[in-house]
Amino acid sequence: MSFNRSGRLLPLEEVDPEIARAIENETERQARTLELIASENFVSEAVLEAMGSVMTNKYAEGLPGKRYYGGCEFVDVAETLAIERAKALFQAEHANVQAHSGSQANQSVYMTVLKPGDTILGMSLAHGGHLTHGHPLNLSGKLYKIVSYGVRRDTETVDYDEVEKLATEHRPKLILAGASAYPRLLDFERFAAIARKCSATFMVDMAHIAGLVAAGLHPSPIPHADFVTTTTHKTLRGPRGGAVFCKAQFAKELDKVTFPGIQGGPLMHIIAAKAVCFLEALRPEFKEYQKQILANAKTLAETLADAGFRVVSGGTDTHLMLVDVFSRKVTGKQAQACLEQAGITVNKNAIPFDVNPPAVASGIRIGTPAVTTRGMEEAEMRQIGGWIAEALNNVENAPALRQLRDQVFDLTARFPLYENRFHPVAQER
Ligand code: PLP
Repeated sequence: MSFNRSGRLLPLEEVDPEIARAIENETERQARTLELIASENFVSEAVLEAMGSVMTNKYAEGLPGKRYYGGCEFVDVAETLAIERAKALFQAEHANVQAHSGSQANQSVYMTVLKPGDTILGMSLAHGGHLTHGHPLNLSGKLYKIVSYGVRRDTETVDYDEVEKLATEHRPKLILAGASAYPRLLDFERFAAIARKCSATFMVDMAHIAGLVAAGLHPSPIPHADFVTTTTHKTLRGPRGGAVFCKAQFAKELDKVTFPGIQGGPLMHIIAAKAVCFLEALRPEFKEYQKQILANAKTLAETLADAGFRVVSGGTDTHLMLVDVFSRKVTGKQAQACLEQAGITVNKNAIPFDVNPPAVASGIRIGTPAVTTRGMEEAEMRQIGGWIAEALNNVENAPALRQLRDQVFDLTARFPLYENRFHPVAQER
């Protein structure tokens, strides 16, 4: 039993009732709505417990066994377990688990291999790339010269010929694969061959697909890339944070850039929770969970297509899909708002070659990791797909959206957050 659960200390509701209430309300929101944001998930109680532990109190600059502070013997145990489990999970030569976030994981690779002004060839943000891959307002866009590749207009899949052409023309120092809103498999082998041809370092940001990769359901970038970054909180279902993998030859430099290059003290409670997450992901039931994420995404995409919505690239191979709602005269912004009224949480998203500005957008991004954690399967996906279609056909019809919300409440009541097929802790009880 961890100290904060002992019942001997003042509970949060007595110390700070306002925050206690906000947490209570957020718990209820998560329990009663359908969480379809592709980058979100529900961590296990074990992960929550590690995150809420006294390890948050500890300064531990440095690495296990080589710290700048005393008293690190137990946080060293946690970080060593996190590193070893992460390496085993992804069969990586080296892992650094200290990145506070996916953004900082990416930054640490940039700082390891690039100098300001060097060129990065990455996926266009408008076609699914991430802000940290070169948005003008992001550090990446300010420090480096950004050249972007996109998807083909006809297939809406990565245009590898364009990647090769741009690589030959611009001779980037770094080629970056990985995305936030791309529903198809990425061909890491092809990217690596292009990078070799122009002597570029090859980096993959697998933040979204890390859980699928861990389960062997998406080709792994690890054998092909010099560096692989990830978040730990998406399909991987761990605490909010990042991690970086690299070939052994880059290990020392990467560790030095992470600390003291861009970060100070590592978040030891989060690193402990990452260790728990990696352990859970090494278990056979994690593969079953990831398989169900894929089956659910396929079913949901098919249901929406059958209801007359254009699904970008014609479907999905992953945990997410992009739905072109503007093909039915609804903007992404309107879709997000009306679905929220119906108790369904998604985010508006630009689609490739979008005719609307990003703040309005023509699409919504939908993902199945969180609802799958609750134990929902194909039958529920068909039901949810039907509700999404109904909501989008009733954007301005508040009573219809309220009625849908009642049905959503009934469904979520049958699939509690923490007592379900795929929740590791619940499963062991
Ligand atoms: N990389 C990708 C592909 C992402 O989708 C995200 C977040 O959505 C990140 C990096 C950034 O992660 P974080 O929000 O932890 O900084």
